[in-house]
Amino acid sequence: VIEIRDLHKSYGALEVLKGVDIVANKGDVVSLIGSSGSGKSTLLRCANLLEDSQQGEILFDGAPIKWKGEGLNRHPADKAQVIAVRTNLSMVFQQFNLWSHMTILQNVMEAPLTVLGQDPAEVEERARMLLDKVGIGDKCDVFPAMLSGGQQQRAAIARALAMEPEALLFDEPTSALDPELEQEVVKVIKDLAKEGRTMLLVTHDMKLAADVSDNVVFLHQGKLEEQGPPAELFGNPKSERLKQFLSAGN
Ligand code: ATP
Ligand code: MG
Repeated sequence: VIEIRDLHKSYGALEVLKGVDIVANKGDVVSLIGSSGSGKSTLLRCANLLEDSQQGEILFDGAPIKWKGEGLNRHPADKAQVIAVRTNLSMVFQQFNLWSHMTILQNVMEAPLTVLGQDPAEVEERARMLLDKVGIGDKCDVFPAMLSGGQQQRAAIARALAMEPEALLFDEPTSALDPELEQEVVKVIKDLAKEGRTMLLVTHDMKLAADVSDNVVFLHQGKLEEQGPPAELFGNPKSERLKQFLSAGN
């Protein structure tokens, strides 16, 4: 589904991604791990075109993103393609980013109504079903501030699913949560993995990465240092940097 080839990204003079290759086939869960500042969030943001990248290719279902300009002047050329990519790659952030002035149900319904222009009755039915699925079907009519962090994050996941995306991008979805609330969200992510959802998951939770991933990618200073199936990558890490990272209690 998602293919990233030789991606380079700089913020001004700071080169954050130095030629990264990542593939997530349909149904794959690919986890991104690495130290703070290694470029994990930047990679997700480049993948769904929230950020421009200066070199390399991004492909969805084999179709490359079309660019205009070069280097620091490179931008996506086709607006419709950008919207299609954003719709098909729903992102869940560390901070849940729910709209505080809308109820939970309204939060989940908003994008399918306004971006996709779908039928309100159908959107509502699906929204209620998704909120049930993530275990907060009884919270439809309350505002985000009335929910725990774990419940808010599950609402954010339901909101991402409401777009019926081809893939989900998670950026440290559990790291803002207390340990006991974290488990509620981990369970939802595990269920999604079992369903065969395609996911790119940035996480500090090595247990989660080991449990759900088909492939784990270790980023170090903007480069792919090592990747492999979790049993191999965690059980028999080859790179010294990965060994250090894993033994540092991550
Ligand atoms: P963490 O685990 O702390 O979330 P990360 O791997 O997600 O780290 P990124 O957020 O991708 O790291 O940041 C990679 C590098 O890019 C860092 O050095 C960061 O300071 C820099 N950076 C990120 N966003 C910006 C920005 N908008 N402008 C300038 N520099 C940025
Ligand atoms: Mg990050």
